[in-house]
Amino acid sequence: MKYRTTAPRRGEKSRAEKPSPEFALIDRLCARLPLSKRTILGPGDDTAILSPSRRAQLMTIDSMVEGVHFNMRWGTPEQLGARAVTVNLSDVAAMGGTPTACVVNLAVRRGLPVRFFDRLYAGLVQEARVAHLDVVGGNIARAQQLAITIALIGDAPAAPLRRDAARAGDEIFVTGTVGDAAVGWRVLAGKLRSHGAARRYLIGRYLAPIARLGAGARLARIRPAPAAIDISDGLWQDLGHILERSKVGAEIDPRAIPVSDAYRSLMGGDLALALGGGEDYELLFCVRPGFTEDRLSTMLGVRATRIGLITARRGARLQGGTQPTRGGYDQLRADDS
Ligand SMILES: [Mg+2]
Repeated sequence: MKYRTTAPRRGEKSRAEKPSPEFALIDRLCARLPLSKRTILGPGDDTAILSPSRRAQLMTIDSMVEGVHFNMRWGTPEQLGARAVTVNLSDVAAMGGTPTACVVNLAVRRGLPVRFFDRLYAGLVQEARVAHLDVVGGNIARAQQLAITIALIGDAPAAPLRRDAARAGDEIFVTGTVGDAAVGWRVLAGKLRSHGAARRYLIGRYLAPIARLGAGARLARIRPAPAAIDISDGLWQDLGHILERSKVGAEIDPRAIPVSDAYRSLMGGDLALALGGGEDYELLFCVRPGFTEDRLSTMLGVRATRIGLITARRGARLQGGTQPTRGGYDQLRADDS
């Protein structure tokens, strides 16, 4: 797919005679795209051409919209570009797959200098390079709001990590810590105060999340293949997706929910954001009994914490304490926007 701009709308003055700054932008952006041998033809034609893969293909798409998913004042353009890639990589990680190629749509509003897009693409391309992801083309359209949409394909593992694979008796684990990104978001928005290293850590967790690609790929070697999901909407809600698809329930031990020292320094024992806050991009997965935390952590290359058990009885329950309702945490998220 070549980079191209949408035609001026009817009634809009045609600037076709003048060389559009957007075309200069396209040339600049296409000059530095990472391409591997997999890509037979990159940007510049009507479509890209990719070599066939022996693997089943994963395909996903995600958008980041200014004012909805990000605020321009909070991070650098590089972080924005990298994050747009990461959120897609995370979905591939949650299937246990290997990302291979992507196309990018930029919805561009007025008032943004070319330098901004250079920097956004520098971040995007760097993140793609690290993941061995080819950026094979895309599209630029004029819009009211800046938006970055990435469609991405990847190789599926032999046994993908499906949401419908959880069985009663499975143990539920989560990688890393949860709630940091939601706290970081609130620090950036001025709703919570934090200083020093804790502030930098929490903000970093929101602005520069990490897709757990290595952990996902290693999880996919376990048989039977674990159920898994990446935590984008919040632990409680994303767990709910697995429970619904697998037609099972869960019992979660609130004392086991892994939170960072930085999280605890601001939130104390309040788990609302650990359970309800999204965008950590950690993996939640369910395995048959027999895996210790240490064994899984070593295997995955990231700390894995056991947080509960899959039950035949439907619905999610917190052991002891208050029972968060799905609605309660949906509401909590709704307060964000
Ligand atoms: Mg996901």
